Amino acid sequence: MAFDFRKLPRCGAKARSNHQQPCRQAAMPNGRCYWHGGAMSIKHGHCTKKAQAERVECRHLINDLRKSLVSLEDFIYVG
Ligand SMILES: [Zn+2]
Repeated sequence: MAFDFRKLPRCGAKARSNHQQPCRQAAMPNGRCYWHGGAMSIKHGHCTKKAQAERVECRHLINDLRKSLVSLEDFIYVG
């Protein structure tokens, strides 16, 4: 199946990273790219710092879970 990246609409959001020029990433049907109006923005709002904090928290949670799983395995395979 052919997928022509160039035919996709572009995101028109002004990006701080390139001196307020339009973002120009491939946009979704809402006219914004993944970062400027996609799933992440809907879920986390526009506060990137908060989203980063949430990711760190999530990673800690996964690490904790992994540790508990390891101790569980020890418990299960003892007999
Ligand atoms: Zn964008």
